[in-house]
Amino acid sequence: MPFCPNCGSYVSPGDNTCMCGTYVGGDEEGPDLENMTMEIFSKYDTLKSRYYNLNNQDLDGYSELLDDFKDLRDEIEPNKFPYDFEYPFSTLLMDLNHYISNLEHDINKMNDEY
Ligand SMILES: [Zn+2]
Repeated sequence: MPFCPNCGSYVSPGDNTCMCGTYVGGDEEGPDLENMTMEIFSKYDTLKSRYYNLNNQDLDGYSELLDDFKDLRDEIEPNKFPYDFEYPFSTLLMDLNHYISNLEHDINKMNDEY
């Protein structure tokens, strides 16, 4: 597959990744999606429990957690996955966005109170 499905650039045979960052496959096996999925979901569980243990007054804690949620969202960007695999994280992506907007909302509210 010499052309990137994302940006259309030519990808040299043997390269697994296009210069735009998209995984394009190649001769070797793709990423271990099963392990990756487990890892992602365990990170998500950790973030969720941090969310439910947040201290109402702890603005730094909120901002830090917001960043970590965003990092996790970046990690599961659809274009990082091989296009011939089913994208496994659609629902998770929605959940993450939900937490991110809640946190942003809470942070804005806390900022308004000062
Ligand atoms: Zn590309």
